[in-house]
Parts: sequence; C-alpha cells; structure tokens
Amino acid sequence: MARSKRTAVPLGIPRVGFVSLGCPKALVDSERILSQLRAEGYAISPSYESAELVVVNTCGFIDSAVAESLDAIGEALAENGRVIVTGCLGAKGDLVRKTHPKVLAVTGPHAADEVMQAVHAHLPRPHDPYSDLVPPQGVRLTPAHYAYLKISEGCNHRCTFCIIPALRGDLASRPIGEVMQEAENLAKAGVKEILVISQDTSAYGVDIKYRTGFWRGRPLKTRMTELVRALCELGGSAGDLWVRLHYVYPYPHVDEVIALMAEGKLLPYLDVPFQHASPRILKLMKRPASGEVNLERIRAWRAICPEITIRSTFIAGFPGETEAEFRLLLDFLQEAELDRVGCFAYSPVEGAKANALPDPVPAELREERRARFMQVQEKISRKRLKRKIGKTLKVLVDSVDDKGAVARSAADAPEIDGVVFIAGGEALKPGDWARVNIERADAHDLWGRLVD
Ligand code: SF4
Repeated sequence: MARSKRTAVPLGIPRVGFVSLGCPKALVDSERILSQLRAEGYAISPSYESAELVVVNTCGFIDSAVAESLDAIGEALAENGRVIVTGCLGAKGDLVRKTHPKVLAVTGPHAADEVMQAVHAHLPRPHDPYSDLVPPQGVRLTPAHYAYLKISEGCNHRCTFCIIPALRGDLASRPIGEVMQEAENLAKAGVKEILVISQDTSAYGVDIKYRTGFWRGRPLKTRMTELVRALCELGGSAGDLWVRLHYVYPYPHVDEVIALMAEGKLLPYLDVPFQHASPRILKLMKRPASGEVNLERIRAWRAICPEITIRSTFIAGFPGETEAEFRLLLDFLQEAELDRVGCFAYSPVEGAKANALPDPVPAELREERRARFMQVQEKISRKRLKRKIGKTLKVLVDSVDDKGAVARSAADAPEIDGVVFIAGGEALKPGDWARVNIERADAHDLWGRLVD
C-alpha cells in the first residue's frame, strides 16, 4: 500500500485500506473480505493516509513470514493507527497482541465474517436505505425480553423415529464469532434471556473440527462449552442474562456445563431428550446410552449442581415396545424424578425408518401408555414443585394485567414449562426481574407474592 496518494473517493464513504500477505488461500480470504467490503458500500483506499482503517491479512507459515507480517502490522499502525489483523498469524496465540497491543481486533484465517464484524464496530457501515430499517438484533417474533439463538442446523444422528437429517441434512455449525456477535447484539438490545437451540446443541462444532473462531478479538473454539462460557460473560457480574440450553444430547462432555451452573454463571436448566430407558428400545431408536447410564448421569449432575432443573422428552409406544419395557420406562421416571417432562405417543412420520420395525404398537395402546406415563410424571412434578413453597425465587416477568404479573423462574422455559403467578405485581412490566416468595404450587405452576 502506498504511503500518501490522495484518492478520489467521495466524502462520506468510509475508506478501508488493505494489505494482503501470504499464500493463495490467504489471497482468497482477502478477495472475500474485499468483495464484502465493496458489497456493503465501503471504498478500498490505495494509501494509508486516505484510509480510515487498515486490514492486514497475515501469514504465519515460517519465521520469515511471521516477521514480514509483524512488520506489515507495525507499518500500518505507524502510518494509519487503526488496524485490524486477520489471517494465519492471528491464530498463533497472543503473538500479534503481545507485539502490537494497539491493534483494534485480531482474527484467524477464513474469518471474513469476523473481520466484517470488527470493521462494522470500528468504522460503521454506510447507510443502506433498505437494511438500515432492520434493528441490529434483527426482526424477532419473540417478546423483546427473550430470544432464541440458533447455533447450528441439521444433525449427524440417525434416530430411527426422526426425519430431520433427511430434511435438513448433516450438522452444519454456525461460526462461533457470528453466533457470539448475534448474542451480543441481543443483549445490547435489552434481551434478558437467550435460549440456545439447534437439533443437537452438544454436538456444536463437531462438523468443523471445533475450528477456532474469534470474538472481541480473542480466539474461541467452536464448541458448546466455550460458547456457553462466552455467552455467560454477556450478563456481566450481576448475571442479569439468563442463558438456557435446549436439545442437549446426553454426551459425557455435557458434565462440563453443569459445573458452570454450579458456579452460578449458567442458568441451572438442562433440556436433554432421553426418549426412553430400555436398552433394547434405545438401540432400536439408535439413541446413545441406556436408562442406567442416564440415571447415573442425572445423579452426578445433581451432585454437582443440586438446584438444576432437568427437562426431558420421551416416546411411548415405540414399535416393538412391550409392556415390560414400558414399565421399565415408568420405573426410570420414578427413579430419575425429572422436573419437567413431555411425552409423545409414537407417531409414524412418513419416511422414518422406525415405521418398518416389527410389532408396531396399536394406536390406542400408544395413547394409553402416554396417558399412564403422564399420570406418573404429574405426581413427580407436583412433589418437586411443592418443595419450592416458602422459597424466594428470582423471576423474569412475561406479562402483566390487573390481576397481577405472570413470570418465569430459572426452572421455566417459555411456552413449554410452567409459570409463576405473582400477586401484587401489577406495577411490574414485561422484561422486569422480580423476587417472589412462593406460597402455592400445583403440578405445573407456582403462585407467590412479590418481595421488595
Ligand atoms: S431426534 Fe434429534 S438427534 Fe435424533 S436424528 Fe432427529 S434431530 Fe438428530
């Protein structure tokens, strides 16, 4: 890049300088970033002097390339002062920040989206009359105080009752930098609760080998635990952002996030679909683990974090399920004492492999088993909710009318779990935090009084 060549770029158009080093793969990354900059209305500046910010795409392959890249960053800082670093050198630990602490942001290679986020943060995008009507957090269909955060699409499992992989394909994880930026925009827009969703949350990053992405200029692996840790930071020290995990497939590494719940950083709530307890039925479903292993896991989770709320879903009347196997499922339920449970009678979805299994359970029997299952669970839920009477819970208000407010505690996901009815909560607003002393409970909901 030249040092002082004036440019004919009209005033008011933000100008980005670009230094591209390295191999053809780095060159392709540079082309992607430059194309995106131009598509968004930025001008590419031919000199340091006329640029308002400089992107340096680095190489870190051999020592001489490292030295050349560090020199290029130093030159851009000296000549311009506002520098974003990307490329292979950015993936080499803290080297760039240690050598040049004044850089604005650092990303690794193949990180066009993260580079664009850093450019947006330090040199706002030119006004676009179409997209600027859309708020930074996007258009949301949920109330303003909570939002769903989708981290991946598709699924690598082949559960025999499910056709999602056929419809949506294999797991495709979103880049962690992009996910974190979306979460940060939501938190800045006033969202108090983020619900992490996917088909299989615990598999996040498996498809891209846990690739390192970048957020706020620091490296982050595309992995559930690291994502959750970073999301928890958004709530600040007061922890005033709930992060709720849904669709967590019961892999062993799920234990890692339970520790974060015990530390009070992550909402102690886990939505983990067990589907059944009989080893034979789980095998026919192509699901992992057995009821016994899952029971051990539940006990271990509760030992680490006693206040955890566990939600799960099950299928009654799966093809071939005998009365004895169904009773085993009921025994599991009694042992596990889960807090929130949904049960579906098996439904032969067109295209599902399970439909071809022998000994299908007649429709009426499937329904009858579902009803028996829910009867057992109702008693368990009632017993577990009763233990909350007399306690004071932190709640998030969903709605208010002249009878009081309706809110949710840490144990209640919107739409699927129960609610907390608050007497004397008329002055509250949706999205407010409140503290409620619990006075009454049934099998689903709680009733309480506002505590000042
Ligand atoms: S049930 Fe869930 S884990 Fe199993 S294939 Fe379907 S989406 Fe994947």
